[in-house]
Amino acid sequence: MLKKLFQSFRSPLRRFPRPRHTPEILSGRQHSLHSEDINRHAVSVVERLQQAGYEAYVVGGCVRDLLLHLSPKDYDVATSATPEQVRAEFRNARIIGRRFKLVHVHYGREIIEVATFRANHPETDDEDDASHLASRNESGRILRDNIYGTLEDDAQRRDFTINALYYDPTSERILDHTRGVHDIRNRLIRLIGDPEQRYLEDPVRMLRAVRFAAKLDFEIEKHSAEPIAELSDLLCDVPSARLFDEILKLFLGGKALRTFELLLEYDLFAPLFPASAEALEDNPEYAGTLIRNALANTDQRIAQGKPVTPAFLFAALLWPALPARVQEAQGRGLPPIPAMQEAAHELVWEQCQRTAIPKRFTMPMREIWDMQERLPRRQGRRADQLLDNPRFRAGYDFLLLRESAGEQTNGLGDWWTEYQEAGDSERRSMIRELSNRSDDSGAPRKRRRSGGRRKRGANEGAPASE
Ligand code: ATP
Ligand code: MG
Repeated sequence: MLKKLFQSFRSPLRRFPRPRHTPEILSGRQHSLHSEDINRHAVSVVERLQQAGYEAYVVGGCVRDLLLHLSPKDYDVATSATPEQVRAEFRNARIIGRRFKLVHVHYGREIIEVATFRANHPETDDEDDASHLASRNESGRILRDNIYGTLEDDAQRRDFTINALYYDPTSERILDHTRGVHDIRNRLIRLIGDPEQRYLEDPVRMLRAVRFAAKLDFEIEKHSAEPIAELSDLLCDVPSARLFDEILKLFLGGKALRTFELLLEYDLFAPLFPASAEALEDNPEYAGTLIRNALANTDQRIAQGKPVTPAFLFAALLWPALPARVQEAQGRGLPPIPAMQEAAHELVWEQCQRTAIPKRFTMPMREIWDMQERLPRRQGRRADQLLDNPRFRAGYDFLLLRESAGEQTNGLGDWWTEYQEAGDSERRSMIRELSNRSDDSGAPRKRRRSGGRRKRGANEGAPASE
Protein backbone atom coordinates (compact mmCIF):
# COMPACT_ATOMS: atom_id res chain seq x y z
CA MET A 1 0.00 0.00 0.00
CA LEU A 2 2.74 2.40 0.96
CA LYS A 3 4.52 1.81 -2.30
CA LYS A 4 1.39 2.65 -4.20
CA LEU A 5 0.86 5.80 -2.21
CA PHE A 6 4.44 6.80 -2.70
CA GLN A 7 4.09 6.38 -6.43
CA SER A 8 0.95 8.44 -6.56
CA PHE A 9 2.74 10.98 -4.45
CA ARG A 10 5.51 11.32 -7.04
CA SER A 11 3.27 11.12 -10.06
CA PRO A 12 3.37 14.18 -12.33
CA LEU A 13 -0.41 14.23 -12.30
CA ARG A 14 -0.97 15.42 -8.80
CA ARG A 15 -4.52 14.84 -7.66
CA PHE A 16 -4.80 17.94 -5.53
CA PRO A 17 -2.90 20.82 -7.05
CA ARG A 18 -2.36 23.56 -4.54
CA PRO A 19 -4.47 26.51 -5.53
CA ARG A 20 -2.72 29.84 -5.30
CA HIS A 21 -5.02 32.68 -4.46
CA THR A 22 -5.09 35.95 -2.67
CA PRO A 23 -6.13 35.66 0.93
CA GLU A 24 -9.50 36.63 2.19
CA ILE A 25 -8.94 39.70 4.33
CA LEU A 26 -11.23 40.28 7.27
CA SER A 27 -11.22 43.77 8.67
CA GLY A 28 -11.56 44.44 12.38
CA ARG A 29 -15.33 44.80 12.01
CA GLN A 30 -15.69 41.39 10.37
CA HIS A 31 -14.31 39.29 13.20
CA SER A 32 -14.48 39.12 16.96
CA LEU A 33 -10.77 39.44 17.71
CA HIS A 34 -9.43 42.60 19.29
CA SER A 35 -5.82 43.52 19.77
CA GLU A 36 -6.49 44.05 23.51
CA ASP A 37 -7.32 40.33 23.73
CA ILE A 38 -3.86 39.45 22.53
CA ASN A 39 -0.96 38.96 24.87
CA ARG A 40 0.83 42.31 25.03
CA HIS A 41 4.25 40.76 24.56
CA ALA A 42 3.12 39.05 21.36
CA VAL A 43 1.77 42.40 20.14
CA SER A 44 4.99 44.19 20.95
CA VAL A 45 7.08 41.56 19.14
CA VAL A 46 4.91 42.01 16.04
CA GLU A 47 5.06 45.83 16.26
CA ARG A 48 8.81 45.83 16.70
CA LEU A 49 9.34 43.62 13.65
CA GLN A 50 6.95 45.69 11.56
CA GLN A 51 8.73 48.89 12.58
CA ALA A 52 11.98 47.30 11.43
CA GLY A 53 10.40 46.80 8.00
CA TYR A 54 9.45 43.13 8.18
CA GLU A 55 6.08 41.48 7.79
CA ALA A 56 4.89 40.02 11.08
CA TYR A 57 1.69 38.44 12.34
CA VAL A 58 0.30 36.59 15.30
CA VAL A 59 -0.53 33.16 13.92
CA GLY A 60 -1.73 29.64 14.55
CA GLY A 61 -3.46 28.21 17.58
CA CYS A 62 -3.74 31.50 19.44
CA VAL A 63 -5.74 33.19 16.67
CA ARG A 64 -7.95 30.11 16.38
CA ASP A 65 -8.52 29.93 20.14
CA LEU A 66 -9.27 33.64 20.51
CA LEU A 67 -11.84 33.48 17.71
CA LEU A 68 -13.46 30.66 19.67
CA HIS A 69 -13.28 32.66 22.92
CA LEU A 70 -10.82 30.20 24.44
CA SER A 71 -7.64 31.26 26.13
CA PRO A 72 -4.57 30.39 24.06
CA LYS A 73 -1.90 28.14 25.51
CA ASP A 74 0.89 30.10 23.92
CA TYR A 75 1.54 32.74 21.29
CA ASP A 76 3.29 32.27 17.99
CA VAL A 77 4.49 34.98 15.66
CA ALA A 78 5.31 34.44 11.98
CA THR A 79 7.54 36.88 10.15
CA SER A 80 9.46 37.53 6.94
CA ALA A 81 12.60 38.23 9.02
CA THR A 82 15.18 35.45 9.23
CA PRO A 83 16.02 34.11 12.71
CA GLU A 84 19.22 36.14 12.75
CA GLN A 85 17.32 39.29 11.77
CA VAL A 86 14.77 38.63 14.50
CA ARG A 87 17.47 38.14 17.11
CA ALA A 88 19.10 41.40 16.11
CA GLU A 89 15.89 43.28 17.00
CA PHE A 90 15.59 42.01 20.57
CA ARG A 91 17.93 41.92 23.52
CA ASN A 92 15.97 39.07 25.09
CA ALA A 93 15.94 36.71 22.10
CA ARG A 94 17.55 33.34 21.57
CA ILE A 95 17.74 31.19 18.46
CA ILE A 96 16.71 27.60 19.14
CA GLY A 97 16.23 24.42 17.15
CA ARG A 98 18.41 22.54 14.78
CA ARG A 99 15.92 21.04 12.35
CA PHE A 100 14.53 24.47 11.75
CA LYS A 101 15.55 27.54 13.59
CA LEU A 102 13.09 29.48 15.69
CA VAL A 103 13.57 32.48 17.90
CA HIS A 104 12.36 32.60 21.47
CA VAL A 105 11.79 36.10 22.75
CA HIS A 106 11.78 36.01 26.55
CA TYR A 107 9.68 38.25 28.81
CA GLY A 108 10.29 36.97 32.31
CA ARG A 109 8.88 33.44 32.31
CA GLU A 110 6.88 34.04 29.20
CA ILE A 111 8.19 33.10 25.78
CA ILE A 112 6.93 34.36 22.43
CA GLU A 113 7.96 31.98 19.66
CA VAL A 114 8.90 33.69 16.41
CA ALA A 115 9.18 31.64 13.21
CA THR A 116 10.31 32.77 9.80
CA PHE A 117 7.79 32.13 6.99
CA ARG A 118 8.51 28.66 5.67
CA ALA A 119 7.56 26.85 2.49
CA ASN A 120 6.44 23.31 1.95
CA HIS A 121 9.09 21.15 0.46
CA PRO A 122 9.78 21.83 -3.25
CA GLU A 123 8.30 18.63 -4.67
CA THR A 124 4.83 19.88 -3.90
CA ASP A 125 5.58 22.62 -6.42
CA ASP A 126 7.93 20.89 -8.82
CA GLU A 127 7.46 17.18 -9.30
CA ASP A 128 10.31 16.85 -11.77
CA ASP A 129 12.97 18.07 -9.44
CA ALA A 130 14.43 14.97 -7.81
CA SER A 131 16.88 16.84 -5.61
CA HIS A 132 14.34 17.07 -2.81
CA LEU A 133 14.17 13.34 -2.29
CA ALA A 134 16.93 13.32 0.25
CA SER A 135 14.59 15.19 2.56
CA ARG A 136 11.85 12.59 2.56
CA ASN A 137 11.77 8.99 3.55
CA GLU A 138 10.26 6.45 1.23
CA SER A 139 6.71 6.92 2.40
CA GLY A 140 7.02 10.63 1.69
CA ARG A 141 7.54 11.76 5.26
CA ILE A 142 9.28 15.10 5.50
CA LEU A 143 12.58 14.81 7.28
CA ARG A 144 13.71 18.38 6.79
CA ASP A 145 11.53 21.37 6.08
CA ASN A 146 13.65 24.38 6.76
CA ILE A 147 13.06 26.25 3.55
CA TYR A 148 12.02 29.85 3.94
CA GLY A 149 9.13 31.19 1.91
CA THR A 150 6.45 33.83 1.58
CA LEU A 151 3.44 34.41 3.79
CA GLU A 152 1.33 32.44 1.32
CA ASP A 153 3.82 29.53 1.40
CA ASP A 154 3.75 29.65 5.16
CA ALA A 155 -0.05 29.38 5.21
CA GLN A 156 -0.02 26.44 2.78
CA ARG A 157 2.51 24.40 4.74
CA ARG A 158 0.49 24.56 7.97
CA ASP A 159 -1.63 21.59 8.95
CA PHE A 160 -5.26 22.67 9.26
CA THR A 161 -7.16 25.62 7.81
CA ILE A 162 -8.15 26.72 11.31
CA ASN A 163 -4.44 26.91 12.24
CA ALA A 164 -3.44 29.05 9.26
CA LEU A 165 -4.95 32.40 10.22
CA TYR A 166 -2.70 35.44 10.45
CA TYR A 167 -3.68 38.37 12.62
CA ASP A 168 -2.11 41.77 12.35
CA PRO A 169 -2.71 43.61 15.63
CA THR A 170 -1.77 46.94 14.06
CA SER A 171 -4.44 46.93 11.34
CA GLU A 172 -6.64 44.42 13.25
CA ARG A 173 -7.01 42.47 10.01
CA ILE A 174 -7.07 38.69 9.68
CA LEU A 175 -5.47 37.16 6.57
CA ASP A 176 -7.12 33.90 5.62
CA HIS A 177 -5.53 31.94 2.74
CA THR A 178 -7.32 28.65 3.32
CA ARG A 179 -10.87 29.53 4.35
CA GLY A 180 -10.01 28.89 7.94
CA VAL A 181 -12.54 31.37 9.29
CA HIS A 182 -15.26 29.52 7.38
CA ASP A 183 -14.13 26.23 8.96
CA ILE A 184 -14.03 27.77 12.43
CA ARG A 185 -17.61 28.94 11.94
CA ASN A 186 -18.62 25.47 10.80
CA ARG A 187 -16.54 23.78 13.47
CA LEU A 188 -14.49 21.69 11.05
CA ILE A 189 -10.97 20.33 11.17
CA ARG A 190 -9.82 20.37 7.55
CA LEU A 191 -6.33 19.62 6.30
CA ILE A 192 -4.81 22.08 3.88
CA GLY A 193 -4.13 20.34 0.53
CA ASP A 194 -4.47 16.64 -0.22
CA PRO A 195 -5.14 14.91 3.11
CA GLU A 196 -3.42 11.65 2.19
CA GLN A 197 -0.29 13.46 1.06
CA ARG A 198 -0.26 15.68 4.12
CA TYR A 199 -0.54 12.65 6.44
CA LEU A 200 2.24 10.92 4.53
CA GLU A 201 4.42 13.98 4.96
CA ASP A 202 3.82 13.98 8.67
CA PRO A 203 1.72 11.20 10.24
CA VAL A 204 1.50 13.13 13.53
CA ARG A 205 -1.06 15.31 11.77
CA MET A 206 -3.51 12.41 12.23
CA LEU A 207 -3.07 12.72 15.99
CA ARG A 208 -3.33 16.48 15.80
CA ALA A 209 -6.63 16.19 13.90
CA VAL A 210 -8.04 14.06 16.69
CA ARG A 211 -6.58 16.29 19.39
CA PHE A 212 -8.14 19.46 17.99
CA ALA A 213 -11.45 17.70 17.29
CA ALA A 214 -11.61 16.69 20.97
CA LYS A 215 -10.27 19.95 22.37
CA LEU A 216 -12.50 22.23 20.32
CA ASP A 217 -15.44 19.87 19.95
CA PHE A 218 -15.11 20.07 16.15
CA GLU A 219 -15.76 17.44 13.49
CA ILE A 220 -12.98 16.16 11.31
CA GLU A 221 -14.09 17.09 7.82
CA LYS A 222 -15.01 14.07 5.68
CA HIS A 223 -12.05 14.06 3.28
CA SER A 224 -9.61 14.76 6.07
CA ALA A 225 -11.07 11.93 8.17
CA GLU A 226 -11.30 9.33 5.43
CA PRO A 227 -7.64 8.25 4.99
CA ILE A 228 -6.76 8.17 8.69
CA ALA A 229 -7.67 4.60 9.61
CA GLU A 230 -5.85 3.25 6.58
CA LEU A 231 -2.73 5.29 7.24
CA SER A 232 -2.68 4.93 11.02
CA ASP A 233 0.23 2.45 10.96
CA LEU A 234 2.47 5.20 9.64
CA LEU A 235 2.70 6.34 13.25
CA CYS A 236 4.96 3.35 13.88
CA ASP A 237 7.72 5.15 11.94
CA VAL A 238 7.49 8.39 13.88
CA PRO A 239 10.37 8.96 16.31
CA SER A 240 9.35 7.69 19.72
CA ALA A 241 10.30 10.90 21.55
CA ARG A 242 7.97 12.93 19.36
CA LEU A 243 5.15 10.47 19.95
CA PHE A 244 5.67 10.72 23.68
CA ASP A 245 5.32 14.52 23.54
CA GLU A 246 2.24 14.17 21.39
CA ILE A 247 0.65 11.68 23.78
CA LEU A 248 1.03 14.09 26.66
CA LYS A 249 -0.77 16.72 24.60
CA LEU A 250 -3.48 14.20 23.71
CA PHE A 251 -4.14 13.08 27.26
CA LEU A 252 -3.26 16.09 29.39
CA GLY A 253 -5.27 18.68 27.50
CA GLY A 254 -8.41 18.29 29.60
CA LYS A 255 -10.28 16.20 26.98
CA ALA A 256 -8.55 12.86 27.41
CA LEU A 257 -11.69 10.73 27.42
CA ARG A 258 -13.08 12.20 24.22
CA THR A 259 -9.62 11.96 22.66
CA PHE A 260 -9.40 8.27 23.56
CA GLU A 261 -12.75 7.53 21.91
CA LEU A 262 -11.62 9.30 18.74
CA LEU A 263 -8.26 7.49 18.75
CA LEU A 264 -10.16 4.20 18.88
CA GLU A 265 -12.58 5.33 16.20
CA TYR A 266 -9.73 6.15 13.81
CA ASP A 267 -7.57 3.10 14.66
CA LEU A 268 -4.92 5.39 16.10
CA PHE A 269 -4.76 3.89 19.57
CA ALA A 270 -3.17 0.56 18.58
CA PRO A 271 -0.06 2.04 16.95
CA LEU A 272 0.52 4.16 20.05
CA PHE A 273 -0.22 1.51 22.69
CA PRO A 274 -0.05 -1.90 21.00
CA ALA A 275 -0.15 -3.97 24.18
CA SER A 276 -3.03 -1.98 25.68
CA ALA A 277 -4.96 -2.24 22.43
CA GLU A 278 -4.58 -6.01 22.59
CA ALA A 279 -5.82 -6.05 26.18
CA LEU A 280 -8.79 -3.93 25.11
CA GLU A 281 -9.63 -6.51 22.51
CA ASP A 282 -9.23 -9.48 24.86
CA ASN A 283 -11.05 -7.95 27.78
CA PRO A 284 -12.97 -4.91 26.59
CA GLU A 285 -15.12 -4.61 29.68
CA TYR A 286 -12.34 -4.47 32.27
CA ALA A 287 -9.61 -2.76 30.22
CA GLY A 288 -12.06 -0.29 28.70
CA THR A 289 -13.55 0.68 32.04
CA LEU A 290 -10.18 1.06 33.74
CA ILE A 291 -8.71 3.23 31.00
CA ARG A 292 -11.85 5.34 30.58
CA ASN A 293 -12.16 5.90 34.33
CA ALA A 294 -8.50 6.93 34.50
CA LEU A 295 -8.95 9.39 31.66
CA ALA A 296 -12.20 10.80 33.07
CA ASN A 297 -10.37 11.27 36.36
CA THR A 298 -7.53 13.06 34.63
CA ASP A 299 -9.96 15.40 32.87
CA GLN A 300 -11.71 16.11 36.13
CA ARG A 301 -8.48 16.90 37.95
CA ILE A 302 -7.42 19.25 35.17
CA ALA A 303 -10.79 21.00 35.28
CA GLN A 304 -10.31 21.46 39.03
CA GLY A 305 -6.79 22.81 38.56
CA LYS A 306 -5.25 19.81 40.35
CA PRO A 307 -1.91 18.40 39.25
CA VAL A 308 -1.79 15.32 37.05
CA THR A 309 1.19 13.10 36.45
CA PRO A 310 2.05 11.30 33.23
CA ALA A 311 3.32 8.41 35.40
CA PHE A 312 -0.18 7.68 36.72
CA LEU A 313 -1.63 8.01 33.24
CA PHE A 314 0.83 5.59 31.66
CA ALA A 315 0.50 3.23 34.63
CA ALA A 316 -3.25 3.10 33.97
CA LEU A 317 -3.01 2.83 30.19
CA LEU A 318 -0.65 -0.14 30.42
CA TRP A 319 -2.02 -1.95 33.49
CA PRO A 320 -4.61 -4.01 31.59
CA ALA A 321 -1.80 -5.45 29.46
CA LEU A 322 0.04 -6.81 32.50
CA PRO A 323 -1.94 -9.93 33.51
CA ALA A 324 -1.39 -11.75 30.21
CA ARG A 325 2.34 -11.15 30.47
CA VAL A 326 2.48 -12.17 34.13
CA GLN A 327 0.72 -15.38 33.23
CA GLU A 328 3.11 -15.99 30.40
CA ALA A 329 6.11 -15.48 32.73
CA GLN A 330 4.56 -17.79 35.31
CA GLY A 331 4.04 -20.30 32.55
CA ARG A 332 7.79 -20.22 32.09
CA GLY A 333 8.12 -21.25 35.73
CA LEU A 334 8.65 -17.91 37.46
CA PRO A 335 6.99 -17.45 40.86
CA PRO A 336 4.29 -14.74 41.06
CA ILE A 337 6.36 -11.77 42.26
CA PRO A 338 9.34 -12.18 39.94
CA ALA A 339 6.86 -12.91 37.13
CA MET A 340 5.14 -9.61 37.84
CA GLN A 341 8.49 -7.78 37.94
CA GLU A 342 9.62 -9.25 34.69
CA ALA A 343 6.30 -8.63 32.95
CA ALA A 344 6.27 -5.02 34.11
CA HIS A 345 9.83 -4.48 32.98
CA GLU A 346 9.17 -5.96 29.54
CA LEU A 347 5.94 -4.11 29.04
CA VAL A 348 7.48 -0.74 29.89
CA TRP A 349 10.50 -1.46 27.71
CA GLU A 350 8.29 -2.35 24.75
CA GLN A 351 6.13 0.71 25.23
CA CYS A 352 9.23 2.90 25.34
CA GLN A 353 10.22 1.65 21.88
CA ARG A 354 6.98 3.19 20.65
CA THR A 355 6.68 6.24 22.88
CA ALA A 356 9.94 7.10 24.63
CA ILE A 357 8.69 7.55 28.19
CA PRO A 358 11.47 9.27 30.14
CA LYS A 359 12.87 7.51 33.18
CA ARG A 360 11.48 10.16 35.50
CA PHE A 361 8.05 8.78 34.59
CA THR A 362 8.77 5.06 34.17
CA MET A 363 10.25 4.88 37.68
CA PRO A 364 7.16 6.20 39.47
CA MET A 365 4.99 4.13 37.12
CA ARG A 366 6.71 0.99 38.29
CA GLU A 367 6.40 2.17 41.89
CA ILE A 368 2.66 2.65 41.49
CA TRP A 369 2.43 -0.91 40.19
CA ASP A 370 4.69 -2.29 42.94
CA MET A 371 2.51 -0.54 45.45
CA GLN A 372 -0.41 -2.68 44.26
CA GLU A 373 1.47 -5.71 45.56
CA ARG A 374 2.17 -4.04 48.87
CA LEU A 375 -1.19 -2.45 49.67
CA PRO A 376 -2.77 -5.76 50.77
CA ARG A 377 0.10 -6.44 53.20
CA ARG A 378 -0.69 -4.25 56.15
CA GLN A 379 0.29 -6.13 59.26
CA GLY A 380 2.58 -4.90 61.98
CA ARG A 381 4.08 -1.58 60.98
CA ARG A 382 3.67 -2.12 57.28
CA ALA A 383 0.53 -0.03 56.92
CA ASP A 384 2.21 2.99 58.54
CA GLN A 385 5.36 2.51 56.48
CA LEU A 386 3.26 2.48 53.34
CA LEU A 387 1.46 5.65 54.41
CA ASP A 388 4.83 7.35 54.72
CA ASN A 389 5.84 6.29 51.25
CA PRO A 390 5.81 9.34 48.95
CA ARG A 391 4.10 7.20 46.31
CA PHE A 392 1.33 6.07 48.67
CA ARG A 393 -1.32 8.49 47.42
CA ALA A 394 -0.80 7.55 43.78
CA GLY A 395 -0.77 3.85 44.69
CA TYR A 396 -3.99 4.22 46.70
CA ASP A 397 -5.71 6.18 43.92
CA PHE A 398 -4.61 3.45 41.53
CA LEU A 399 -6.14 0.80 43.77
CA LEU A 400 -9.45 2.69 43.73
CA LEU A 401 -9.20 2.89 39.96
CA ARG A 402 -8.76 -0.89 39.70
CA GLU A 403 -11.76 -1.41 41.96
CA SER A 404 -13.81 1.01 39.87
CA ALA A 405 -13.14 -1.27 36.90
CA GLY A 406 -14.51 -4.26 38.80
CA GLU A 407 -11.37 -5.81 40.25
CA GLN A 408 -12.12 -7.77 43.41
CA THR A 409 -9.85 -6.69 46.26
CA ASN A 410 -11.86 -7.74 49.27
CA GLY A 411 -12.66 -4.19 50.36
CA LEU A 412 -9.04 -3.10 50.34
CA GLY A 413 -9.79 0.38 49.02
CA ASP A 414 -12.36 1.06 51.73
CA TRP A 415 -9.98 -0.27 54.35
CA TRP A 416 -7.29 2.18 53.27
CA THR A 417 -9.74 5.05 53.07
CA GLU A 418 -10.80 4.34 56.63
CA TYR A 419 -7.24 3.87 57.83
CA GLN A 420 -6.17 7.26 56.52
CA GLU A 421 -9.05 8.95 58.29
CA ALA A 422 -8.62 7.04 61.56
CA GLY A 423 -6.83 8.20 64.70
CA ASP A 424 -3.90 6.36 66.29
CA SER A 425 -5.79 3.96 68.51
CA GLU A 426 -8.34 3.23 65.83
CA ARG A 427 -5.53 2.41 63.46
CA ARG A 428 -4.01 0.01 65.96
CA SER A 429 -7.25 -1.84 66.33
CA MET A 430 -7.71 -2.00 62.56
CA ILE A 431 -4.35 -3.70 62.29
CA ARG A 432 -5.17 -6.06 65.18
CA GLU A 433 -8.40 -6.98 63.49
CA LEU A 434 -6.53 -7.96 60.37
CA SER A 435 -4.74 -10.76 62.19
CA ASN A 436 -8.07 -12.13 63.38
CA ARG A 437 -9.64 -12.05 59.96
CA SER A 438 -9.89 -15.24 58.09
CA ASP A 439 -9.18 -13.76 54.68
CA ASP A 440 -5.72 -13.48 53.30
CA SER A 441 -5.66 -9.79 52.59
CA GLY A 442 -4.01 -8.77 55.83
CA ALA A 443 -1.52 -11.54 56.15
CA PRO A 444 2.10 -11.02 55.32
CA ARG A 445 3.44 -13.17 52.55
CA LYS A 446 6.09 -15.67 53.25
CA ARG A 447 9.38 -14.06 52.57
CA ARG A 448 11.65 -15.69 50.11
CA ARG A 449 15.02 -15.80 51.67
CA SER A 450 18.18 -16.13 49.76
CA GLY A 451 20.96 -18.27 51.12
CA GLY A 452 20.57 -20.80 53.86
CA ARG A 453 20.58 -18.55 56.94
CA ARG A 454 17.01 -18.80 58.13
CA LYS A 455 16.36 -17.16 61.44
CA ARG A 456 13.24 -17.97 63.37
CA GLY A 457 11.24 -14.76 63.65
CA ALA A 458 7.93 -13.92 65.23
CA ASN A 459 6.04 -14.65 62.02
CA GLU A 460 8.07 -17.59 61.02
CA GLY A 461 5.95 -20.52 60.19
CA ALA A 462 2.75 -18.48 59.97
CA PRO A 463 0.88 -19.40 56.84
CA ALA A 464 0.89 -16.78 54.07
CA SER A 465 -2.84 -17.07 54.05
CA GLU A 466 -5.12 -18.56 56.53
P1 ATP B 1 -2.04 24.27 20.80
O1 ATP B 1 -0.79 25.08 21.11
O2 ATP B 1 -3.29 24.80 21.36
O3 ATP B 1 -1.86 22.83 21.03
P2 ATP B 1 -1.42 25.05 18.12
O4 ATP B 1 -2.27 25.09 16.89
O5 ATP B 1 -0.84 26.34 18.58
O6 ATP B 1 -2.28 24.37 19.22
P3 ATP B 1 1.26 24.11 18.00
O7 ATP B 1 1.75 22.71 18.08
O8 ATP B 1 1.62 25.09 19.04
O9 ATP B 1 -0.31 24.00 17.85
O10 ATP B 1 1.73 24.63 16.57
C1 ATP B 1 1.61 25.99 16.18
C2 ATP B 1 1.20 26.08 14.73
O11 ATP B 1 2.20 25.47 13.89
C3 ATP B 1 -0.09 25.35 14.38
O12 ATP B 1 -1.21 26.15 14.63
C4 ATP B 1 0.10 25.04 12.92
O13 ATP B 1 -0.20 26.17 12.13
C5 ATP B 1 1.59 24.78 12.80
N1 ATP B 1 1.91 23.35 12.94
C6 ATP B 1 2.21 22.68 14.08
N2 ATP B 1 2.45 21.39 13.85
C7 ATP B 1 2.32 21.20 12.53
C8 ATP B 1 2.46 20.07 11.66
N3 ATP B 1 2.76 18.87 12.13
N4 ATP B 1 2.26 20.27 10.33
C9 ATP B 1 1.96 21.49 9.85
N5 ATP B 1 1.81 22.57 10.62
C10 ATP B 1 1.98 22.46 11.93
MG1 MG C 1 0.48 26.62 20.18
